[in-house]
Amino acid sequence: MKYLAILATASLAAAPALAADKDWKFGDGQMPERWSTVNSDYAICDAGLMQSPVDLGQAKARGEITVSTNYGETGGTLAVSDQKLQVDFPAGMHMHSGDKHFNLIQVHFHTPSEHAINGKRYPLVAHFVHATDKGELGVLGVMFEEGDANPALGAIGNALSSGNGSALNLDASEMIPDDLSVYRYMGSLTTPPCSEGVNWHVAEEVMEASAEQIAAMAGSLGPTARSLQPLGNRLLVAPVE
Ligand SMILES: [Zn+2]
Repeated sequence: MKYLAILATASLAAAPALAADKDWKFGDGQMPERWSTVNSDYAICDAGLMQSPVDLGQAKARGEITVSTNYGETGGTLAVSDQKLQVDFPAGMHMHSGDKHFNLIQVHFHTPSEHAINGKRYPLVAHFVHATDKGELGVLGVMFEEGDANPALGAIGNALSSGNGSALNLDASEMIPDDLSVYRYMGSLTTPPCSEGVNWHVAEEVMEASAEQIAAMAGSLGPTARSLQPLGNRLLVAPVE
């Protein structure tokens, strides 16, 4: 019996898949997730003072943030796993914000939206994740409400039925508003390890997706919004009216 137990332990330790298993979960989006209690590597998730998401209705300043993208037609690869639905992009698309040049890496989704506006969360959000050449992160969030079908989300929905790793083509510009007026603040990744120093941008204009598209994403993801984090002393700039 002892010999068998050792064998079992050895084979578990050797299984490389275990290393990739995630050890944290989204909660209900209301109660604090307390991810630091799961893994001490996630200490900043609970101790950090610059965490995301926040309620954007707390903005006390307005300002013109100059943001532009060159998003367009592109290939992509779908990455789906537990509480994750993402499209990885090849190099070439970017976002300019102020004097910073961010390269687009991937877009992923949450249901419902993570950021709220005066307590209201939208049923779906797209997070476009970018990094500068030096590794500084910049995210553009775009919220969706129920309405007309979105063609790019349609392409992702089709890929979803083909499963993880499937290739797709879409026009990424179809997932962002023509008018990129944004809320802007410094925050964090909304998933462990909750690293801070993320340049957050959230589009003021809410886009439309069909009820079926939202249901397909919510069905794949489940509840995937982190609880709202305190804004504290941070500057949160709302777009000029
Ligand atoms: Zn996200």
